[in-house]
Amino acid sequence: MVIMKVVCGKLCGFCAGVNYTINKALEILNTNEKIYCLGKIVHNEIVIKKLEDRGMITVDSIDDIPNNSKVIFRAHGEAKETYDKAKLKNIEIIDLTCGKIKIIRKKIEKEKGKSFILIIGKKDHPEIIGNLSYSGKNSSVIENIKDISSAYEQYKKTHLKNIYIISQTTFSSQKFDELVKAIKTTFIDNNVNIIIDKTICDATEKRQQEAYELSKNVDLMIIIGGKNSANTKELAKISEKNCSDYILIQNVDDLKNISFFNKNTVGVISGASTSKETVDEVVEYLKKLKY
Ligand code: SF4
Repeated sequence: MVIMKVVCGKLCGFCAGVNYTINKALEILNTNEKIYCLGKIVHNEIVIKKLEDRGMITVDSIDDIPNNSKVIFRAHGEAKETYDKAKLKNIEIIDLTCGKIKIIRKKIEKEKGKSFILIIGKKDHPEIIGNLSYSGKNSSVIENIKDISSAYEQYKKTHLKNIYIISQTTFSSQKFDELVKAIKTTFIDNNVNIIIDKTICDATEKRQQEAYELSKNVDLMIIIGGKNSANTKELAKISEKNCSDYILIQNVDDLKNISFFNKNTVGVISGASTSKETVDEVVEYLKKLKY
């Protein structure tokens, strides 16, 4: 009979920003006050359901919130215009934008007018949509290599001599480096000053490093997180480099029909919007398995 060795990453569970957001939301819900959340509070359906069961109402647009209500702005933050719209409707904002994202927006505002701003990140991610509302017309989002040439054409129409490169907090560290290299090649000009500000959150970067190291020494990697969580998907991609056998799950229920035959060592990690409780349930389940 074989009992599997289960190695759980040290950085599992919520990151500091998500932890603060969830605790604050629970604090408000405990007062039985009616509270709306603009967009999904985190990219994790289990966490959302838990809060909605306690009374939180998730809406897609500020237009869906009645005047004089109370709304949570989640950790990703919101676009500038959304704050203005909320004010017009006399909506009270509980602004839970992560401090690290607030700092990035301040940096963007400081560079606006002085530099052409290149934001490296996923175009449809709420954090990037929010950042773009601060960066103005002399800016562009780079998600892939193919976006660089159009950004360069846009830049050429300006008279700016600085290029300021900043990142989504949950972007792939390796992909950021690759894109910066390609940007430098395209924007090659002796008079251009390229400023690189790698604003990937350390919580993201350390998890990516941990995924890389852990996946070298196990037979199977289990990555826990929401289906739409960018940072969870990134952990899966990184794990795959060393361990082709990996599964992405949301919670312990997703493991029930999986065979672990011949798996001597299993690694477990989680995205930043997965609770420690969910991770512990997975680890406990795996530790009890025998084959
Ligand atoms: S990953 Fe980093 S930037 Fe994003 S919410 Fe968590 S602590 Fe904040």
